[in-house]
Amino acid sequence: MRELIGSALASLALATTGATASEQCDTNEKFGIIIHGGTAKAGNIPEERLVFMRTLLAGMKADLAAGAAAIDIVEDTIVKMEDSGLFNAGKAAINNAGGFVETDASIMDGKTLEAGSVGSMQFIKNPIQAARMVMDRTRHVMMVGNRGENAVTALGAETVEPEYFINNIDDQPKEHGTVGAAVLDRCGDLAAGTSTGGYGAKIPGRVGDSPVIGAGTYAKNGIMAASATGHGEFFIRFTAARSIAARMEYGGEDISDAAQAVIDEMYAAGDGASGRGGLIAIDADGNFAMPFSTDGMVRALANNTQAPVAGAFALME
Ligand code: ASP
Repeated sequence: MRELIGSALASLALATTGATASEQCDTNEKFGIIIHGGTAKAGNIPEERLVFMRTLLAGMKADLAAGAAAIDIVEDTIVKMEDSGLFNAGKAAINNAGGFVETDASIMDGKTLEAGSVGSMQFIKNPIQAARMVMDRTRHVMMVGNRGENAVTALGAETVEPEYFINNIDDQPKEHGTVGAAVLDRCGDLAAGTSTGGYGAKIPGRVGDSPVIGAGTYAKNGIMAASATGHGEFFIRFTAARSIAARMEYGGEDISDAAQAVIDEMYAAGDGASGRGGLIAIDADGNFAMPFSTDGMVRALANNTQAPVAGAFALME
């Protein structure tokens, strides 16, 4: 059996080519990017993360202005957030109830409706890159657990020792946020991605909404791109990100009404503590939405006319 899996992985590696090189685009003036660093508790202004996010967006704004593709910006932004050690994703992903890290991530290209995701990864340094590899270099959408981890490793995803993850060696795991990005580029293409360690009380093997296309992440050209954070079980059950797109596409709602309605619907279904969370979204015209039913949501945005702003409660200059 082991040999069979081994040879299947070897042929997978041989059958694939490098990640798709996205074309430069400078058709339109307009572009925009919105990112989140998870939900925030009342009274807790995470200044370090806000400064990091503003600086990050200054770089991404310059890249978008120069014609970078939305899908590349989503991946690049999330890699940098995963590597920062400031968020519940990548390096600072939170431990599960078993005391070890399991990460989830997904990415979606609104132009092609292609998507890739990974769930319950234990050793992958950048889960969002692994998700992109699944999208670009396999015929699948979702790879999970140790077999999925073997597959993305065979594709070239970088692995790390357990000690790489700060919370694996820290007695006091830090509550940082999930990360996500939604982008409109100068071609008018939309893309979104999300990456997380889930939440601390999760049972080993639990997978949340972040790697589930249509729940934690969704993008469709002409409509919108979105990434979620919060109580993942509700975002899965309410197909949160796709529901925003459906409300816009079939119901004619604008992005603010659609995103707010989805957050309200989940909150109403919960008991006040459950069903809470937030979303960031951008539509095909560059309009942003960022509703949340938690105390706050760490988020930042920029576009072709707006310099990066970030905030956990109100957006601050
Ligand atoms: N949505 C994530 C999950 O349920 C957690 C979070 O965003 O805080 O895994």
